[in-house]
Amino acid sequence: MTQTTRPFLPFVKPDIDEETIQGVVDVLRSGWITTGPQNQQFEAELSAYVGGRPVRAFNSGTCTMEIGLRIAGVGPGDEVITTPMTWVSTANVILEVGATPVFVDIDPVTRNIDLNLLERAITPRTKALMPVYLAGLPVDMDKLYEIARAHKLRVIEDAAQAFGSTWKGQRIGAIGDIVSFSFHANKNVTSIEGGALVMNNEDEAELARKYRLQGITRTGFDGMDCDVLGGKYNLTDVAARVGLGSLRRVETLTQQRRELARLYFDAFKGGAAVELGVGLPVENFTDHNWHMFQIALPLERLKLTRAEFMAQLKERNVGSGVHYPALHLFTLYRARGYKEGMYPHSERYGASNVTLPLFPGMTADDVTHVVRSIDEICEQFGHNG
Ligand SMILES: *Cc1c(COP(=O)(O)O)cnc(C)c1O
Repeated sequence: MTQTTRPFLPFVKPDIDEETIQGVVDVLRSGWITTGPQNQQFEAELSAYVGGRPVRAFNSGTCTMEIGLRIAGVGPGDEVITTPMTWVSTANVILEVGATPVFVDIDPVTRNIDLNLLERAITPRTKALMPVYLAGLPVDMDKLYEIARAHKLRVIEDAAQAFGSTWKGQRIGAIGDIVSFSFHANKNVTSIEGGALVMNNEDEAELARKYRLQGITRTGFDGMDCDVLGGKYNLTDVAARVGLGSLRRVETLTQQRRELARLYFDAFKGGAAVELGVGLPVENFTDHNWHMFQIALPLERLKLTRAEFMAQLKERNVGSGVHYPALHLFTLYRARGYKEGMYPHSERYGASNVTLPLFPGMTADDVTHVVRSIDEICEQFGHNG
């Protein structure tokens, strides 16, 4: 085993610059700390980023998706098609609005919803599609919207991981129907917690504003009224200021991630891991924001479980994560009739994926160390049986 005195390398680390920290201090001293001018500025800059489309900010990516579904008119009796290879909130929000999630398996190469299987899942009850861009890699947007148009379906994109990604040169969010982003601490752009919804017009944006805060209509103190059932989903100005600082650096941060991803591919080339059958992501340095770099373990050729493999990495001071187990196998979904064997590619990837360290500020030497460690573990514990 490589003996090192290297500090522990986490799989993700937030990158907040000094200018942003100072900006947060200014907000804290300003006398206005919850939703206010910073929030407005954040929404304005987000809107500019997505080509001027209306944007509203929220306090999580989860409630952002839920409000996106409500704006699209999704409710009881409706079906929404998505993938089981995502963070559980994607399916949970579908249940939350009273609709039924319908899963479609992933394409094992892109690890995103298999658009070739999608049309078969459409029924007269299907109201919307909810694609997920795992690790930040978009699906084929032309094909997605061709299907949506042909079947008159709304699309609520779970682009939680895809801020900074593009499709044929156009930014995710600048195209499409309703697009939901997350600014959770681990995401490429972060407001610590938060999210933003990109919509089609001012009517939708006004509805989003109402859902965000108790359905209150703006008619002054005496004329105050509420006309829809809204919640409490507003973003604080402290968080919005963190988001602004992060948003203003997104191009640089994305470039750094792409460079690290490139280094990963170079380092893996011809090594023991690839030889054993470790699965690498799609090599894409144009559209992909490289939110994550995930490998798929060939468990049938390893004398280790995934947890043991990750423990081996940890012994070499390398952090790693799992994103995600296939969600239809969670108790909540099993109770709704889902079981093993229904989405084999998602199940296989869900059981074998490992997220490797990737964040701006990581060095080329860090990448080399991670890949060397993986090659070493594969040499030691791999077998060709
Ligand atoms: C992060 C994430 C979410 C949820 O965002 P939160 O801000 O944590 O609520 C939803 N879907 C995917 C794919 C995510 O990665």
